[in-house]
Amino acid sequence: MPLRHLAPRRRTYTKRLILLGLVVTLGFSAIVTVILLDMARKDREKALDAATNLVATIGSEISRNIELYDLSLQAVVDGLKVPNIDKISPEIRRLVLFDRAATGKDLGAILVINKVGDVQIDSRSVELLAVNHSHRDFFKIHQQRTDAGLYISQPWVGNDGEYLVTLSRRISSLNGSFDGVVAGTMRLSYFHNLFRRVKFGPDDSLTLMRTDGTVLMRAPFDIASIGVDLSKSVVFKKLPVSQAGWYETVSILDGVKRLFVYQQVDEHPLLVVNGLSLATVYAGWRQEAWLIGSLILMLCALNIALVIFLARQLSRRVEVEQTLAVLATTDSLTGLCNRRGFDDIIEREWLRARRAQDPIALLMIDVDCFKAYNDNHGHQTGDKALTAIAGCIAKATNRPADISARYGGEEFVVLLPGESLDGAFEIAERIHANVLSLRTQQHGRPDITPTISVGVASMIPNLGLKPSDLIGIADTAMYDAKRDGRNRTVVAPTIRLVTAERQVIAT
Ligand code: GH3
Ligand code: MG
Ligand code: MG
Repeated sequence: MPLRHLAPRRRTYTKRLILLGLVVTLGFSAIVTVILLDMARKDREKALDAATNLVATIGSEISRNIELYDLSLQAVVDGLKVPNIDKISPEIRRLVLFDRAATGKDLGAILVINKVGDVQIDSRSVELLAVNHSHRDFFKIHQQRTDAGLYISQPWVGNDGEYLVTLSRRISSLNGSFDGVVAGTMRLSYFHNLFRRVKFGPDDSLTLMRTDGTVLMRAPFDIASIGVDLSKSVVFKKLPVSQAGWYETVSILDGVKRLFVYQQVDEHPLLVVNGLSLATVYAGWRQEAWLIGSLILMLCALNIALVIFLARQLSRRVEVEQTLAVLATTDSLTGLCNRRGFDDIIEREWLRARRAQDPIALLMIDVDCFKAYNDNHGHQTGDKALTAIAGCIAKATNRPADISARYGGEEFVVLLPGESLDGAFEIAERIHANVLSLRTQQHGRPDITPTISVGVASMIPNLGLKPSDLIGIADTAMYDAKRDGRNRTVVAPTIRLVTAERQVIAT
């Protein structure tokens, strides 16, 4: 059994060990990845909870104030329907129409504007300013639509340089036609002061905008952002589906990647959006992920190193075991299979041939007059002659299943699975030819290699026969060859029948 045939087995063991190491490393990495992703998810949920609470609080604060102001506007609309309201004195009319809610810190005067855009009544003055509002967005909206409800205007700059929005409601005549507008202003500083009370991370943001995307206030405060159109923002793709929600994106205002949480301010056309910088949201997680990731990487590297070390050790061990196994079945002098190896192989091949009902042939080879050869040339020369004859035998066989073995002292056997008597005889003659060729080359030398006698047998195994029967018949044929004058091959008679008493009958 040559060593090179055993190398693939060694490689298989090593491959399996490396595969196992890889599976363990990958499995380990997968588990850690799942844990890290779960940690990131929890951090995001925590941030989402905080941002959701913030937009809800800010939203309800704004909603409450707008509703109060809206109640004042509606009171004016209703008051104007009182019969003869236009007949009473301006001072009394102001007391009837305007409550004190409209005198809040960030709120401006409430104006009653007629259907051509002129101010008719001013909540804060009897003297009316000659300003026409017919070009203003809130006027046009109510003029064109009956269902605008409470309308919040585009931001605009008042005479004192303050940013304002106008909150307005339509005045309809008895037949439903447009009869003017009740409008009041609200300073954007109200939202500014509200936003200032909130504590932010360095890259976080809080934005109040109209539902058409116009920014009314933003924190951190930047006056340039007031009135900016953000209608392309992701939030306006989500708003029609849900009035509150979240998404992650890069801000179109400053390019910072944020986790955005939005909520519409009740039923009003306003939206509060809180943006939390993703760098801040995942800051803690990143640190932990780096630490855990580095440790896992080190463990994986250690695992791989261990696997490589074990694979090498295993490979060496398997190599040593295989070498020992080969040595245990190899004859040290000739390099052929030894008797132990042969006994195992003939048992195996016998059973295989019996199952397949194939012939199996055996050559029994004995060196002629070898005792005399030893006596003449010494045992060391005798050993060399045995090795040379072993070479002649090995050279004569070429099928993978053919086995040449040293049977004992100066006796050899060749097992030829699947071979008939004719084929086996041919191989015996080939061995004779090899020995003859060797002897021709050594012509004239005193230690010329001795000749051999060969007995040939072949049979199809059946239940009554044993491997020893094949060996015995080949051995008998070999002795016949000795008797017939040596240096020849004798073919054993064909086995014809086997009786129940294991009598081998030959013809
Ligand atoms: P025959 O032709 O009838 O076979 O005669 P023979 O002399 O070969 O037969 P015999 O059985 O009388 O002698 C066999 C000899 O083989 C005896 C022994 O010294 C020799 N022999 C057996 N094993 C070895 C070995 O490993 N090395 C050497 N040098 N000689 C061996
Ligand atoms: Mg002998
Ligand atoms: Mg002999």
